[in-house]
Amino acid sequence: MSSHFKDLKNRTSEFGGKEGQDGIIRCDACPILCRIRPGKEGACARYANDDGVLIRCDRLLLAQQVVEEPAQLTAPQPNQEVTNILEPATTFVTAVGAGTTYPDYKPAPFIVSSQHDGIDTVTVVTEGIFSYCGVKVKIDTDRHLGSETAAVYCQSEQVGHVTTAEYGSQMLSLGGVRHVTGGSRKEGRVTCETLLSLCNKQAVDLQIEGGSLVTVQAGQAPIVNGVKEQRMRVGCGSATIGIFAQQWYGQVDEVIVIDDHITGQLSEHQAGKCLGIPATGIRLRGHKSTPGRYFKVANPGTGWGGTDITDPLTVFKTINPKIAWPGLRILLTSTTGEDTCYCVLDESLKPVPAPMPDAVAKVVQRIGENCEPSLSTVLFTAGAGGSLRAGVTRNPVNLTNAVAQGQCQVTMSGAPVYIYPGGGISLMVNILRMVDNAFGYVPTPALVAPLEFTMPTSLYQQLEGHMEEVTPVSEVIAQLGDEARIERWQSGNPWPFDAFSKQQTDAGD
Ligand code: SF4
Repeated sequence: MSSHFKDLKNRTSEFGGKEGQDGIIRCDACPILCRIRPGKEGACARYANDDGVLIRCDRLLLAQQVVEEPAQLTAPQPNQEVTNILEPATTFVTAVGAGTTYPDYKPAPFIVSSQHDGIDTVTVVTEGIFSYCGVKVKIDTDRHLGSETAAVYCQSEQVGHVTTAEYGSQMLSLGGVRHVTGGSRKEGRVTCETLLSLCNKQAVDLQIEGGSLVTVQAGQAPIVNGVKEQRMRVGCGSATIGIFAQQWYGQVDEVIVIDDHITGQLSEHQAGKCLGIPATGIRLRGHKSTPGRYFKVANPGTGWGGTDITDPLTVFKTINPKIAWPGLRILLTSTTGEDTCYCVLDESLKPVPAPMPDAVAKVVQRIGENCEPSLSTVLFTAGAGGSLRAGVTRNPVNLTNAVAQGQCQVTMSGAPVYIYPGGGISLMVNILRMVDNAFGYVPTPALVAPLEFTMPTSLYQQLEGHMEEVTPVSEVIAQLGDEARIERWQSGNPWPFDAFSKQQTDAGD
């Protein structure tokens, strides 16, 4: 069992962490209030009884910003531990391994002061317990995964639903307080397990009601019904026509880009008209929206362009013999260029598949080149506007207002978050910008996630913060010693203190 900072911080209530009969101590870091025997862990495996002392099992993570490459940091990997001496000015105390406060009025586990560019700052560090949380999963695929609002299951429990599709992506909304607290005990537990795995960057199998089995993992290609997705579409069918019309001009008489949402037809499309491409007399199935743009040419599915089409020639509704001509050259393609068919009208004006000319194949290849790799993206969303704020300030609405006005930087393991406009502190974060395995779980059930609030000390004082708890970062480093886990600051994440230097510069301009 690892232990850490038991001497630095061991915040307990009047009975929490106190030794009782047989050396049993009670953890009061969440409402479960586990009674923990010596040498054992609590129900969440985050706290333990270390010889009569309540400890947080994981080491506190300090992220170190490395401005210049010291010799001992040659070619480090992301999240690789670094061993050089910590400098207070380049050390950020993350909330990973910090511990939680419960009941909420207790100050956050770490309230750390540091100085940057002559500005005194405070970072309030805590692991929040979130009942109001979920993830949005963005799955880059054209394939129809399930109908909008269809239930999403994991381990036979509903954990969310399909929400509105985005441009080239299917979106799932998973978790949320209704699944976490409003269903059966098992539904809440499985929902939390699903969220925890996704947020800790692990793969999860999700079954969509009446749809596909999808395996998603942050930063990896989605696997739909056992097939790894490769490409994200270049655009809808109409956009694909617009992008490549000029390159098809003269090489082919008609192009049809099959798409579940907007199928495009070159000769009718404005792009074809501008190039002077003549009408071909081909009429597609479905509902014509505007010239060259068709809706509902087929049912949704896992075939061409997210439709159920597997034989592209079924997309033709009629071919007008007064306009079409024998030898008319037609390209049919999906929005990724992965499915293609070249055909020519015979003497009876019937489309007959033929070898694709090199010039046409080159443009099809270019569609593929312009498709980005298909990925799954996991965005954690949660409301930090509740009781957690009392660990930061005695007057919680002050924190809410400071965050809303951009005076206070909110990060999760150092990763920047998006704050929703409006009331409360509702946030969203791309979990790929966070450190690995930053999330935990308590069986209330709820997710545990790291959260840091960084602001100038003068502002913290104005917010009625817990000033008496402020500890200089140098002291935190010294007291933790080898008990701290040290990783390099994730490149690409803004250094939270830079915002205040900028504010000062702007004010001086
Ligand atoms: S579940 Fe974890 S945090 Fe909650 S009381 Fe038990 S050991 Fe403490």
